Amino acid sequence: MIRALSELVVGQDPRMRARLGLCLLSMVIYVCWIFVLLGYALPRHLITESTAHFFMGYISVALCVFYPLVRSGITRSWPDPGLVAPQILWASGAMIISYAVAPVVRSVAFQTLCLIQVFGFLSLRPKVAAWTGGLTTAMLIAAWVAMTVLGLSDADPRAEALKIAGSCFVLVLMTIQSRSFGLMRERAFHAKQSLAAAAEELRRITVRDGLTGLYNRGHMQERLQAEVQRAQLNGHHFSVALIDLDHFKAINDHHGHAVGDEVLVNFALQGGAVLRETDVIGRWGGEEFLVLMPETEEANQAQIAMTRLREQLRSTQVSRSLPDLRVNFSCGVATWSARDSIEQVIERADQALYRAKSGGRDRTELQPPLTRGITSAGQPVASA
Ligand code: GH3
Ligand code: MG
Ligand code: MG
Repeated sequence: MIRALSELVVGQDPRMRARLGLCLLSMVIYVCWIFVLLGYALPRHLITESTAHFFMGYISVALCVFYPLVRSGITRSWPDPGLVAPQILWASGAMIISYAVAPVVRSVAFQTLCLIQVFGFLSLRPKVAAWTGGLTTAMLIAAWVAMTVLGLSDADPRAEALKIAGSCFVLVLMTIQSRSFGLMRERAFHAKQSLAAAAEELRRITVRDGLTGLYNRGHMQERLQAEVQRAQLNGHHFSVALIDLDHFKAINDHHGHAVGDEVLVNFALQGGAVLRETDVIGRWGGEEFLVLMPETEEANQAQIAMTRLREQLRSTQVSRSLPDLRVNFSCGVATWSARDSIEQVIERADQALYRAKSGGRDRTELQPPLTRGITSAGQPVASA
């Protein structure tokens, strides 16, 4: 019950709660002011009725505007979502008007004015902190000048000037402090951002192959391990395809290492484009690639995918400088069956790949699972 009420008043989002907490605190202070005005100052004729009405109206504006606006979420995308700067200026305005029209609060008006600035310490951006403090100081000086010029103040002018100078001094110090807190927050924010970017880059480097951008061998091993655990839980089998580019050494030898690199990159691009979104392709080493195909119970489903890749490569330019250069690959496919270790599945895929190579290359060979009673050195089931 209390929790539901708290969620209704300040929401669930921690940042929203902090903003609304500040709004509620200022509302409580405003309500206290109403009690002081109506319950203490007015009955004792320390302020006139019209002054009391004016403040009631002034405070009502704050009560009706700030909290509802922030709570509605409208301000969420605004530069100052908690409306801290407008709230500080509004409250400071109240204090400065009190100083001008209600001599009874004059003694506390200056301290309160300085105290209000503290609300900006936790959230104002440096620029906003500077102009909020500057504007408050300017409003105070303007009120004092107006009162002096119009002869509205009955206090000793020198003593009043000293008070104003002291208050302005404190206000300026607090503004500088608020601005430097804002700068510190900005620096911390940027440091956090660059740290997150560095962590992301580090993660990318540790899981990706530098040349092709595909996952590297280490990451593929982790993915295989995770897939085995998933398959053990849900009973869905997966297939592994080991791909080795045919006569790749000859490409390097005839056209140079740079063309060889280009071919690897373009092969990786086609692999990524042709395979299902759920399939994971990685560079297993040199010109060898491994494709993990989840939920592929039948090895021929994997074979269909490899045929698609093969056809794609036939129509794809793999080197800019050699438009007619084409690349073929041989592939061995093995499907995981219960109690298989990762090494066993890969070993079977490797044996199938060996057969694809020795059978003439540019083809896919499937290796049956051990559970079907056929040894890992069994005969090929199909070829394409
Ligand atoms: P096969 O059809 O039997 O697979 O013959 P192959 O020439 O493809 O195989 P082989 O293992 O003889 O040669 C693989 C070559 O791949 C040798 C190596 O220099 C080259 N290679 C490995 N990594 C890279 C690389 O990152 N860039 C380039 N350009 N070549 C690489
Ligand atoms: Mg090889
Ligand atoms: Mg090769």
